[in-house]
Amino acid sequence: MKSLKENFQKAHIVIIGSGIIGKFNALELSELGFQITIIDPNLLQNSSNAALGLLMGNMYQKRRGRSWDLRKQSIELWPQWITFLQKFNYELNIEKPLIQLTTNEEKFKKLEEFICKNNDPNLRILERDSIFIKNINKAFQTKNIKGMISFNDGRINALSLLETLDKYLKHKKVNFLRGEIIKIRKSNNQWISTTRNNENIKSEMVILCNSLNAIDLIDNLSHNIKLKPVLGQAMEIDINDTEIDLLSLPKQFNINGKNIIPKSKNKLIIGSTDEYNTIPEENTFEKLTNFLDKKPNWLMKGKISKKWFGIRSRPVGEPSPIMKNLEDGQIICTGFYKNGILLAPACSKWVANEIKNYLY
Ligand SMILES: Cc1cc2nc3c(=O)[nH]c(=O)nc-3n(C[C@H](O)[C@H](O)[C@H](O)COP(=O)(O)OP(=O)(O)OC[C@H]3O[C@@H](n4cnc5c(N)ncnc54)[C@H](O)[C@@H]3O)c2cc1C
Repeated sequence: MKSLKENFQKAHIVIIGSGIIGKFNALELSELGFQITIIDPNLLQNSSNAALGLLMGNMYQKRRGRSWDLRKQSIELWPQWITFLQKFNYELNIEKPLIQLTTNEEKFKKLEEFICKNNDPNLRILERDSIFIKNINKAFQTKNIKGMISFNDGRINALSLLETLDKYLKHKKVNFLRGEIIKIRKSNNQWISTTRNNENIKSEMVILCNSLNAIDLIDNLSHNIKLKPVLGQAMEIDINDTEIDLLSLPKQFNINGKNIIPKSKNKLIIGSTDEYNTIPEENTFEKLTNFLDKKPNWLMKGKISKKWFGIRSRPVGEPSPIMKNLEDGQIICTGFYKNGILLAPACSKWVANEIKNYLY
């Protein structure tokens, strides 16, 4: 009789979708010894490639419930995965800290209460005379920006992470198939995923990581799952003003909900919008720079040097993300409206545990 371990390792798992969720699941499952095939028609144009890579874990203010549990687990798992992935890219790291700022008194009071209640030494209110606050107020020509610093949150370069995962998956001989899955069905205890070119791929298990399109592949009569698209735009702007040195600002921060990443002395990235649409709205610059009542001159004069967008999927009527065991051997892992990069490790761990339970 074959050992359980042998059965386990022989199992072939198809992952539909190669965004961060598909790739991270492939990483977790490859490490467990499964044979993996990832299928996607388009390996680069997805929301993961648009992400800014901010990992907002500890600064999440609701410290209970499923969303917090996933964040907490991811925060613990990230450093381990970074160390592991550095074998494939020694430059991969999480740039810390992360700063969250507001000009709204009420929101600031909530931040103060949150910090006071949680007594976490890695979270602190930024005092008015802190160098960060001074430089930000000076650069943005305001007096009333306040906020907190989280020493354990930060940013990972999302593109570099995806490239590193590609290197790892190649090294592990994970099979990448370019194709769009249009149907999946079960026959004789196997899942058959059919591509638009009529190719059938058999597997013991199938994981749906294909964002919005996951619902086209499930039996909607048995599983009432709804997702809506939320488009997010981001831009890189060139600042032509000798008065301002963007490198005097923190490496990554958020003001009134907009994420800001200075890239050089005169270049910065701002993201992102939330548009309930599939076509980007045209007033990108305005939408992304309206986080202050009065913009500083250097920002008003800034020119977009690059802009991009991604379409995320948001669950309707239930919280994000959707992680469910739909049928024996069929798992859905989608609806990462926000924070897909942050949550990838915890969600992949959940999937791996479901698979272990199913196969044992
Ligand atoms: C501008 C922007 C900034 C963001 N910033 C951050 C951030 O700072 N931090 C953070 O954590 N998150 C951020 N996010 C969110 C994050 O990008 C998403 O949560 C995450 O990328 C979702 O990953 P995914 O793998 O579920 O989806 P996707 O990356 O969209 O991947 C889904 C894949 O499925 C494939 N697919 C679809 N249909 C099929 C099919 N039928 N067959 C095969 N394949 C199929 C698609 O081609 C695609 O490659 C940001 C998003 C945007 C747009």
